[in-house]
Amino acid sequence: MQPQPVAHPVVKILIVEDQRRLGQFLKRSLTERAYTVTWVQTCAEARDALCETNYDVIILDLGLPDGDGLDLLKEWRKGGFQEPVLILSARDAVDDRIKGLDVGADDYLAKPFSLEELLARVRSLLRRQSSSKETVLKHGGIRMDLLGRTVTQNGQPLEMTSREFALLEVFLQNPGRILTRTLISEKIWESHYDVDTNLLDVYMSKLRGKLEVEPGKPVFKTIRGVGYQLL
Ligand code: CA
Repeated sequence: MQPQPVAHPVVKILIVEDQRRLGQFLKRSLTERAYTVTWVQTCAEARDALCETNYDVIILDLGLPDGDGLDLLKEWRKGGFQEPVLILSARDAVDDRIKGLDVGADDYLAKPFSLEELLARVRSLLRRQSSSKETVLKHGGIRMDLLGRTVTQNGQPLEMTSREFALLEVFLQNPGRILTRTLISEKIWESHYDVDTNLLDVYMSKLRGKLEVEPGKPVFKTIRGVGYQLL
């Protein structure tokens, strides 16, 4: 089995950066710190990524092969996307910074930058965010505290691995929705790890073992050939 990064369901970061080496470096550095990272290289991919899911922080380069990051940001703000955006750019003049902040960036970091500074700024954006974000998810007697990283069912604490926690969070974020195997796998595992979907069944059965303790009271429904649903 291939090594797998620690799942961190709470914090999702989107990196929009066309420079390959920098993008890889950022992705690796942030993944090592247990963030869930998506890295894209063009405006088009960034648009798609943001339509598919929401992110806690977006790190945005400005000079992109198919457009300007500033235009992308303007478009997002107009469209009502509130995600915190940290601009990462070689354009270092005061004017450029002001322009970036004016169109809705939350922070601006000039290249070259130190990784430690970038991480500190990401943490600061997350702190600003967390006060307004839902931190407790509840459904049918299950209660998940995202900050405390605890789960209870009918008041009884449940022990969970970080993977099981991540998996359950996906369901609690989408109660009643049928979630496809692909969607679940993508949310839990980095897509480039090329997940064997059998692994998902293994984790689902572990999760069920912990949650489906009352006979005749299933918590999940298996939709054959499709995926799962939190009842
Ligand atoms: Ca660039």
